[in-house]
Amino acid sequence: MPLAAQLTPVVEAAFGLDGGAMFGIVPRPLWERTNPPDARNRIAMAARVLYFELGDRRVLIDTGIGRAWSAKEADIYGVALDEPPLTEKLRTLGIEPTAITDVILTHLHFDHAGGAIVDTVEGPRPTFPGATHWVQRENWVWAHGPSVRDAGSYRRRDFARLGDAVDLRLVDGHAAPFDGVELIVTRGHTPGMQLVKVRTAAQTVLYTADLIPTASHLHVPYVMGYDVYPLTTCAEKADLLEQATRHGWVLALEHDPDAAFVVPERRPDGRFVAAARADTLAGL
Ligand SMILES: [Zn+2]
Repeated sequence: MPLAAQLTPVVEAAFGLDGGAMFGIVPRPLWERTNPPDARNRIAMAARVLYFELGDRRVLIDTGIGRAWSAKEADIYGVALDEPPLTEKLRTLGIEPTAITDVILTHLHFDHAGGAIVDTVEGPRPTFPGATHWVQRENWVWAHGPSVRDAGSYRRRDFARLGDAVDLRLVDGHAAPFDGVELIVTRGHTPGMQLVKVRTAAQTVLYTADLIPTASHLHVPYVMGYDVYPLTTCAEKADLLEQATRHGWVLALEHDPDAAFVVPERRPDGRFVAAARADTLAGL
């Protein structure tokens, strides 16, 4: 099986979401110690994508929040519209955006797929037109008819054109789209969210998307208020953390403001915590 070369996390944007919504039923005195809110009750979030090379593939997981936001929306979510876009940040790291062959979208919420389409003078265009885009069919269908509860997290402009403008692959369930990469489907956060498991020479890394958005969410009952089926999230999280600790997987966190990677461990009282955290795999 081919192994991925170095995994490169890229913070596409910093933003903020309501701390209460991020921790669901957990009272603020418990979460504010680790995730201090600002004056508008927002906690710091990263939109962190992950890039890696695998054989002749150049793969990007998620595309961040993008810059297609009104001034009012940018203010609500704390998005800095003048921050360099993802393509520029990739180039700074020596990654040529046009060389990306595959974009795996964990799901189509705006802070994951918002960077997939960019507004140009000729209108909206795919940011990575040459890349095959991988989405779970279940999430694709849901995104086109979300529930009243999560409709605010899906914006048509982020994905409406993907079906025509790029090679779009709708995946049905657990899959290995290519050697060395596995897609693991979860349904608690939103139907058809896919986590991405990548093998490197030294580690197995699981990109946990919104199942475990920050290190604070390693604790199983710390579930976001955004989740459509919170008890399903608890069961999925417990199952994957059990596997991760048993097999020594590293977790790649999409939204943690400080750490790109953590090593989970189970304390004697059963609670999962981060035994190590770092911005690079080598730093763990
Ligand atoms: Zn989400």
